[in-house]
Amino acid sequence: MALVPFDDRDGWIWWDGQFVPWRESKLHVLSHGLHYASAVFEGERAYGGHIFKLREHTERLINSGRILGFEIPYTADEIDEACKATLAKNGQTDAYVRPIAWRGTEQLSVSAQATKIHLAIATWAWPNLFGENRMKGVRLGWAKWKRPHPETAPTASKAAGLYMIGTLSKHAAEAEGFDDALMLDWEGHISEATGANVFLVIDGELHTPTPINFLDGITRRTVMGLAKKRQIKVVERTIPKSDLARASEVFLAGTAAEVTPVRQVGEFTFTPAAITETLLKDYEALVRLPPEEVAARLAA
Ligand code: PMP
Repeated sequence: MALVPFDDRDGWIWWDGQFVPWRESKLHVLSHGLHYASAVFEGERAYGGHIFKLREHTERLINSGRILGFEIPYTADEIDEACKATLAKNGQTDAYVRPIAWRGTEQLSVSAQATKIHLAIATWAWPNLFGENRMKGVRLGWAKWKRPHPETAPTASKAAGLYMIGTLSKHAAEAEGFDDALMLDWEGHISEATGANVFLVIDGELHTPTPINFLDGITRRTVMGLAKKRQIKVVERTIPKSDLARASEVFLAGTAAEVTPVRQVGEFTFTPAAITETLLKDYEALVRLPPEEVAARLAA
């Protein structure tokens, strides 16, 4: 599939409260967010006209900014409305939604106290992160880069800067023919893929790393809720790399990746089976429910 550059598309981008034509949504090159990665963003998906767990994404966005020391100058209600309005303005019902907040041009140095905070929201069609490879299971290579200790980087923020090691790891994995990379933490425990959280099925139970050094994904928490509804035991713990030898199934979970079966991680191979399939289908059904029914479906 030919890539259409992101600055050469039709549509509208919500920018600081106004709709700007897509091709005119240009940023000054001396923006602090570009030089010092002082930017936080979200990745959301709309299904059938509803943005799944919109308020949770909006709250995470606001909190990501606070972790980086800035306050996004809009309320959660205003951001929710702006996301919905952008989707509608672009005439989409099923799309990826990308709000991003960043520090502006008033000051260009490590210190950025005088910078204004901006917010933009774009939406575009994006079927699944792994495209056609997804259903037969993706192949993950080991990342050379380790997820940082939470005292080394603001790991609870969906901060642009944290994606530097993600892109490096994903590129290295792709160069070796893998679909993505599985990252370990600084002590060598399993952490996450470059844009999704990871789950292992061990003896019929669902095991997933405790979110200390990575984003506690909204999809991750949703999948944990769906598993509990199915009476599947969920265990959050530190998971050594060697536990992959005990896993019968492995899958990824994230907004862009949705639930994606994994058939290989480095030297380990897996066959996607019943638990992955059940949770994949449960997730697909859940995201298409009207927002007011989602919480009810997950409630015990
Ligand atoms: N980890 C990383 C690094 C991600 O980029 C994402 C996608 N936002 C996730 C995990 C999954 O988070 P969510 O389920 O909230 O999309």
